[in-house]
Amino acid sequence: MREAMAAADVGDEQRHEDPTVTALCERVATLLGKEQAIFLPSGTMCNQIALLVHCRPGDEILAAESSHVLTSEGAGAAALAGAFVRALPAYRGVFRATDLHAAIRPSGPKSPRTRLVVVEQTHNQGGGSVWPIDAIREVAASTRAAGLMLHMDGARLLNAEVASGVSARNHALPFDSVWLDLSKGLGCPVGALLAGDRPFIDAAWVWKHRLGGAMRQAGILAAAGLYALDHNVDRLAEDHDNALAFAERAAAIPGVRVDPYPVETNMVFLDVSGTGRSADDIAARLQASGIRIGVEGATRLRAVTHLDVTRADCLRAAEQLAAAVAGTS
Ligand SMILES: *Cc1c(COP(=O)(O)O)cnc(C)c1O
Repeated sequence: MREAMAAADVGDEQRHEDPTVTALCERVATLLGKEQAIFLPSGTMCNQIALLVHCRPGDEILAAESSHVLTSEGAGAAALAGAFVRALPAYRGVFRATDLHAAIRPSGPKSPRTRLVVVEQTHNQGGGSVWPIDAIREVAASTRAAGLMLHMDGARLLNAEVASGVSARNHALPFDSVWLDLSKGLGCPVGALLAGDRPFIDAAWVWKHRLGGAMRQAGILAAAGLYALDHNVDRLAEDHDNALAFAERAAAIPGVRVDPYPVETNMVFLDVSGTGRSADDIAARLQASGIRIGVEGATRLRAVTHLDVTRADCLRAAEQLAAAVAGTS
């Protein structure tokens, strides 16, 4: 990847003169079945620009209660677009068309305008869970029937493709806008791509400039993305296998519950309330043996597998987790 970056042809990205960025945008637009795509520095900027294009101040956005756009973007919907996110009850981040339907407000001078529905694929806080294609289609049909717009936070859409066997394009089909992250499981240092129809992408370009996301010789970053699409997609299956192997061993440790279980993609959430130890304590013990794990709550931990950890690393992590819980590490 570093060699591909060093060898990239570059130009001024702001002027659409960077051939490598252009090639990556065309490739991702095709991958997602959309007219065009725009290269942005991060996934958060993809979400925020999509909200800015779809919504106007006072609008209401419907999303799962645990969605990234609601919990992890500094209230950007409110701070930037002037819109607010209403939490839908969801199971592993997947909400039902009936709950969506019930949340849509009748139009009138007193009601917020319900404007946008957001689906997160895979759902991070749901345990890296995959939205089944049938659930997507039902929610899309409700959204359309109500005249709302539909946006996919596809940070890990390619993990969903690999886990489900349903193409990213088919997942993305009913959405007005969709993006994927290069800097998660695909292993790039920087970047994400937001896709949609031409008018949407034209409007997104205005916000890219306005927010300072338009770059110069960004081809060195786009080259990493092209490399990742060539080399790092099929191998996501290894990350999923490794997560499962870790989860199976973790679930056998007394007091540790893997939730949800079994794991669907590359994330393993652990409930350690049965161990008598805090998540902080276990994370500190693991850190001392060279293993980093995310603390997600007083007794909740998150392990994520990716291309820099091997099967052997995952098995060692499970052994060290057992030692940390037993207090012998
Ligand atoms: C990581 C993540 C984002 C944000 O992506 P960044 O590239 O870190 O800004 C958005 N949504 C989900 C579901 C994520 O996991």
